[in-house]
Amino acid sequence: MQTETFTDRVACPKCSQESDVQVMPFIDGSDPDQREKFFTGAVNVFRCDSCGTEMMLSSLFEYVDPNLGIALASMPEAAIGHDEFLADFADDGSLLYSDRSDDDLALLPLFLRHRRIVFSYAELLLQAEARILRLVTKADEKQGISLPWKAGDTVSQTVTHTCIACKQPFEQEMIVAADVSAKPELREQLAEQRFNAAPCPHCGQVQLIDSAPILWHDPEHFFSVVYYPFGPDRAAQDDLLDAAGMIEYSRIDESRHSGFAGTLAAFTPHEFYHRFLFHEGLIKRQAAQGVTKPRNVEPLSEDEARKALEERFGPGGKQGPLVN
Ligand SMILES: [Zn+2]
Ligand SMILES: [Zn+2]
Repeated sequence: MQTETFTDRVACPKCSQESDVQVMPFIDGSDPDQREKFFTGAVNVFRCDSCGTEMMLSSLFEYVDPNLGIALASMPEAAIGHDEFLADFADDGSLLYSDRSDDDLALLPLFLRHRRIVFSYAELLLQAEARILRLVTKADEKQGISLPWKAGDTVSQTVTHTCIACKQPFEQEMIVAADVSAKPELREQLAEQRFNAAPCPHCGQVQLIDSAPILWHDPEHFFSVVYYPFGPDRAAQDDLLDAAGMIEYSRIDESRHSGFAGTLAAFTPHEFYHRFLFHEGLIKRQAAQGVTKPRNVEPLSEDEARKALEERFGPGGKQGPLVN
């Protein structure tokens, strides 16, 4: 796939000075050069020539690697609450592809159809990294972790947490697993950023206690996620993700009985919260407008897809030769 880079002028958020930034809206991860640029911040990262401020651009970016079956798209954070944005999704958070006919959708490979939506460029980087590290980490370096789970309840654990402000350690109890369908009040706590929040006993700074992974499971609202605070590297060692980038079933205690299909991984508190807000938006829409079902179109096999493409775009095809 060919990808274009273009130069944009962006005003510094700190000093207002304009600088050039290299923008690559579509990153083909199977191209080593593009992958390198993506991971080293050579594109899509703004650096102010005047004051040195750095920021990641916020726009629509895609990272797709057809060889590894990875498809990620980052949307601007500001899109989350917009009705127009939510209109592209079913209640379960799956993409509707409203602008595509069933025939077109059947041609789309499954990994593209299930492209993972994130809400910042940083999240795009972390998710792509996790998917790649999962594949390159050797089997003998992998040690499966076990995430606790108790149906109908929460599981708490005492952890040693290092204060984000004064950097001093303290002991604190935190919820490490939550069956949200049995404890709906937790949604309100998370919405108000009170979930697992506690003050530091040394300096008083209130913060999210996240020194252990958090399993948040709300199947009624199609939102199941593991907030994993240790980064993609350890996620690979802990054998956290399956081939589709979802939480590996066997990592969750008794997962077979509890419906953990499609549990996501989030690597930052922001991503956890963004995804929560996204699903809260879908819940609100459902309450106001009724159910929006996911699109159910069987994908074509590779052979069938080839035939269908030839019929439409081949010599004498209905729609002329395929451009692009
Ligand atoms: Zn500046
Ligand atoms: Zn402190």
